[in-house]
Amino acid sequence: MHEMSLVQGLFAQIKEVAKSHKAKKISKVVVQIGPFSGVVTESFSFAFDVLKEEELLLKDAKLQLLLPDPTFMCSHCSQKIDGSKITTQKRENSFHNHLLFHDIKCPVCKQGLLYPYGGDEILLTQIEME
Ligand SMILES: [Zn+2]
Repeated sequence: MHEMSLVQGLFAQIKEVAKSHKAKKISKVVVQIGPFSGVVTESFSFAFDVLKEEELLLKDAKLQLLLPDPTFMCSHCSQKIDGSKITTQKRENSFHNHLLFHDIKCPVCKQGLLYPYGGDEILLTQIEME
């Protein structure tokens, strides 16, 4: 499960920040996970809960995930398309494998195919500490 190593990396980052702020406890962590990052959010949350038990600093930390909608770009007209406007059925099936989006035609020019635009980030956006 590669989410385990992602969370380990995240913890290393958090510990650095906590150290420089002389924090004794982390109460909340906010992480943004892009729709094309390949991260399975359930596994990420699970890994967080398992690994935090081993960390005095993070034991009581709550995890909040920010999951932005995907953005696509058209291969023909270069228009950026808001992924939330694409039918939910296609999105649910395709979130973890963006290759499946290749059968979606651009709603603007009706010619090009859509491909993912950004959205592969795993960002530590906020830490609340005491
Ligand atoms: Zn287009």
